[in-house]
Amino acid sequence: MTEEEWRRIKRFNPDKNWGDPHKMDYGFIFLLDKLSAHLNIPIIISRGYYVRVADKSPSRSDFYHSSGMACDLVFPQCDFTDTLLRVLKLWWFGGIGIHRSNGACELHLDAGDREAWWEDEIGVHRPISELLLPIAAIEKRPNLKRTPSF
Ligand SMILES: [Zn+2]
Repeated sequence: MTEEEWRRIKRFNPDKNWGDPHKMDYGFIFLLDKLSAHLNIPIIISRGYYVRVADKSPSRSDFYHSSGMACDLVFPQCDFTDTLLRVLKLWWFGGIGIHRSNGACELHLDAGDREAWWEDEIGVHRPISELLLPIAAIEKRPNLKRTPSF
């Protein structure tokens, strides 16, 4: 992104944790800026551009981070699950993921294909629908008639 493009961004600036703010994709940051305004909550960028140097093969999320089209976010003043559900409902970004970082969750957004995932204990991306299994279990339970208490 150029200095001129950064000046068009309202809720973020190049001083955040972009890795390299000039390697971020303008269209991606523009949409992130719009999402931040729409959610109207404080968003902290925990990671933007990076290139994985480890010997393991890069994951999908690594690819988009190294293309400047992914960010990891934390929401210091908001419940993570509530915010995740709001982002999933909007689904403005193709990829929506949950990274683990020191026992906390971070929201990953990228410009890739439509896919939602969470990262398990060994870093494998798993479908986010697995996290919704407890809800499916509730839905399958028979409705119990309430007995009025007099
Ligand atoms: Zn990420």
